[in-house]
Amino acid sequence: MKNDDHIVIYISKETTDNVCEECRKEDESVKQNLIMYSYKICNSCNLSKTIFPL
Ligand SMILES: [Zn+2]
Repeated sequence: MKNDDHIVIYISKETTDNVCEECRKEDESVKQNLIMYSYKICNSCNLSKTIFPL
């Protein structure tokens, strides 16, 4: 199959904005938090940061 390149590009494009920079997990909340806080962070990391600020 020669469709591999296409798939890789599509996936990386889709997930770039949804990957948390803290835990490297993909989550829908990352995009929302990026808009709200300008941080690429998921809700669980955001919560732990709020509870235990560094
Ligand atoms: Zn996270």
